[in-house]
Formats: sequence, C-alpha cells, structure tokens
Amino acid sequence: QPAGWIVRWVFFSLIGLLIAVLFKWILSYTQKEKELSTTNLITGLPNANKLNTDLETLMRGETAFSLLGFRIENFEEVNQCTSYEIGVKALLKTVETLKRILQCSVYSVNTHELAVVFPDEDPQAARSAALQFLTEIKKPLSLDGFNIALIIKCGLVQFPRHTQDPGDMIKKMRIALTHETTESELQVYDIAIAEERKARFDMAVALLGALKNREFYLVYQPKIDLQSGRVAGVEALLRWEHAGTLIGPATFICLAEELGVIGDITKWVVRSSVAQAVRWKNAGVDMPIALNLSPKDLKDQNVVRYLIECIEGSSLDPRLFEVELTERSLFENEQMLLQLLKMLRDLGVKVALDDVGTGYNSLVDLVIIPIDHIKIDKTFIDHISSENYRVLVKSVIDFAHNTGGQVVAEGVETKEQLDILKNMGCNYVQGYYYSKPLPLCELEAYLAYPHAGPPSPGVYH
Ligand code: C2E
Ligand code: CA
Ligand code: CA
Repeated sequence: QPAGWIVRWVFFSLIGLLIAVLFKWILSYTQKEKELSTTNLITGLPNANKLNTDLETLMRGETAFSLLGFRIENFEEVNQCTSYEIGVKALLKTVETLKRILQCSVYSVNTHELAVVFPDEDPQAARSAALQFLTEIKKPLSLDGFNIALIIKCGLVQFPRHTQDPGDMIKKMRIALTHETTESELQVYDIAIAEERKARFDMAVALLGALKNREFYLVYQPKIDLQSGRVAGVEALLRWEHAGTLIGPATFICLAEELGVIGDITKWVVRSSVAQAVRWKNAGVDMPIALNLSPKDLKDQNVVRYLIECIEGSSLDPRLFEVELTERSLFENEQMLLQLLKMLRDLGVKVALDDVGTGYNSLVDLVIIPIDHIKIDKTFIDHISSENYRVLVKSVIDFAHNTGGQVVAEGVETKEQLDILKNMGCNYVQGYYYSKPLPLCELEAYLAYPHAGPPSPGVYH
C-alpha cells in the first residue's frame, strides 16, 4: 500500500536523521574534549599537553630553540588584594605583552605560569627578548581603577643544549623558573640548580625520618665564667648524622622549620637535655644547660609547655635551665612570646638572647624582652681588636649590667680576645679558645681535665 510505504519512508528517514544528529553530536563532543585537553580554560591558550606535543614535533627537527617560562610571582596576592577577575585580566595583559614583544605563540603551563617557544638558534636573542618583556611588564598596570605591579620571573632552557626530551624540557624550565635568586628575574637552567634542589628534596625526606631513626645527638659547648675561670654551664647543640654524614644545624634547622617538624625536634632536644641534667645530678654535678629554641617553637605554647612539664617532672632546679632565642622570634608574635617567657622566668628558667648584633632591631629587643643573658655574636668578637667594635661591645656590656643582665661573648678563639673581654667586664665566654662543642664523653673528660685554664664543674646559681 502506498500509504504504508510513505509511513515506512518517513520512519526510516527520521531514524537516519536521528543517527546523523547523534553522530555529529558525538563528533563535536570528542572534538571539544580534545580541545579541552589541550587548552587552558582561563586564558584560552594551548596548555602544557599541547606544549609537550609541540615540543616533540620541534625536537624531531635539528633546529635549536629555547623554551621560556614566565611566572607571575604575586598572582595570588593580586587576586586577594583586588579580585579574581582583575587577576585574570592582569594575566591576559601579560599574555598580550608577551605576544607583542616575543612574537611567538604563548602556552598556559599553569594558572599563573606561561611558556613561549622561541624558535631562534641564537640563545642570546631569546634572552634579550625575555629581558625586554620583563622591563616592559614592570610598568604598573591600571585595570578597572586598580593599579597593579606584577612581579614576573623567567626561566630559560635550550634545545638541544640542556635536554632532548619534551617532558624533561618543561621540567627544567620550571626548575629555572622557580629558582630563588636575587640577582636577576631571568634564570637560565643550570644543572647545579637541579642538583641543589634534588639534594634538598632528599634531605627533607631524610629529615622526616631522622627522629624515628635516632639520627640526632647533642654536643655540649662549655660556657666559662670569666671571674672564677670555671665552667658555668653548657650549651646543648644539635647534630644530625645521616648515612655516615654529619649535617650541621645551620643546614637543617631552617629546613625543619619549613617542613613543620622543628617542634618535634626541639622536644627531642628538651627531653635529651633534661635526661642528661638528671644523670649529672645523680652523679653529684649541678650542670646548667642552655637550649636553643627556634622562633617557630615560640609561636604556640606547645613546646614551652613541654619544656616546663619535663623540668617539673625531673624535680631538678629549674634555674639549671636556660633557653636561647634569637631576635627572629620577635617578628612572629610579640605578646605571645612575652607571655611564654614570663611563664618560664616565673618558674626560674633563664632566658638568653642569642646572636645579638646580627639582626636589624636588636636594640629594640634588648629593651622589650626580659633577658638574663645577652650573647654577643661571634662577628663582633672577631673584630674586637678594632676600636669601634670595642666601643660597641662595651656599651652592650654596660647596658646589660645596668639592666640587671649578664653578657656572654660567643666564638672567642684567641687569648687576645679573651683579655679584651675580661677587661671590659664581660661575664662569660664560649668559644674554641676554651673548647669546641663536645660529645658527651669528651665533655666529661674536659670537665675532669680542662685543657685551657682551670675550669672544673662548679655549682652555679
Ligand atoms: P648558635 O646558637 O649561635 O651556636 C653557636 C655556634 O657557633 C655553634 O655552631 C658553635 O659550634 C659555633 N661556635 C662556638 N664557638 C665557636 C668558635 O670559637 N669559632 C667558631 N668558628 N664557631 C664557634 P653550630 O653548632 O653549628 O650551630 C649553629 C646554629 O644552629 C646555632 O647557632 C643555633 O642557632 C642553631 N642550633 C644548634 N642547635 C640547635 C637546636 O637544638 N635547636 C635550634 N633551634 N637551633 C640550633
Ligand atoms: Ca645559641
Ligand atoms: Ca649565637
């Protein structure tokens, strides 16, 4: 029947149409998916995936080229101080300036990281184009009534000189880009930077396991009372032995602070020092011990409370203990710091201000912090034969004495320095002239048979 045929024709045409529409939809969907996987949604620029494939293609050729990375260091700050929209506008303005000056296509590697492939055999050309851009972008931007100063850093890596692998090239570009240097905003990739970063990474991993693996130990440096010539106490200094290598605290304390493990490490120092003081007490010696606290330890009450608990739990005289802090502590939270120090001093624990003279506001600190001992930094002692340094050291000594405190000179290495300090009325010295920091058994030998002068374990209050 014709009517039947017509119905069938319409039916199959509809099905055909439906399939065609579906097919087109799937095609455009996959196309969009593909685009999305190679495009950055915020800037609309090709992303790191696309950069990777483009580098792959370029590397098949023989031509040398440079990959330049640009990172807006204060992108977050711009977002927080203006708005996200303004932040994006600043980012797009950066892209526009990059395109104008470098005349190349720009990739979005990360939210606030851009990259440019500079197809020039002369690496100097890439360098000078980048420097021109950095000079240009330094001019403040005016966006929707906000004045914005962008801080942009650049990292440069070259093919084939530095790498012949696309992924590795992007990685190395980012290594150069994120290298902290004050010298220039442009950093060319250098194997030394990568090695340093790897070493730091390995050290961080090792440091996280150091407490558990019992890799820390304490050494003790005697503090000599200049009036009696006796050992007036010791300063506990931390040592870390990892895989047969001794790593100094100047290297790992900062890292421990950054990793957020300094509190646990200080607690270990506290535990060990108190336990050692108990052993000495049981042997009939009252040996005062000074401990170093990091500014991070004084940020919350945790570590100081732990110290108080350990001292109280030991039944030792709290006056045997002293905490040494640096003026870096003051930047953090002055009120909290003063409160914690009051808690310690009320108990009888002494407070020393370490490294005095090395920072900016040490004179202010001397007035604000309740201090028992001022430790004059080694740099002053090194120059003590010069008149101006002598005048300065003498004024610190006078200040301490007039405000009820005492002075420790650090890093005394010669008889000449010692004599000058003695004449000035300095109370204590520490330094290689008397003794280096010593492991426990050597310290005990030193206390029994001191090498220089007559120091011997004395009762000190
Ligand atoms: P610091 O507290 O100022 O300790 C004095 C540093 O000078 C020690 O270095 C000591 O070995 C060294 N020294 C002492 N006398 C002389 C001398 O006559 N000549 C020379 N050249 N050096 C001398 P060390 O042990 O390497 O410690 C470095 C810094 O690490 C310490 O400076 C302190 O700020 C920090 N530190 C050490 N142990 C700890 C700790 O348990 N906790 C914290 N937070 N920091 C620590
Ligand atoms: Ca110290
Ligand atoms: Ca010091």
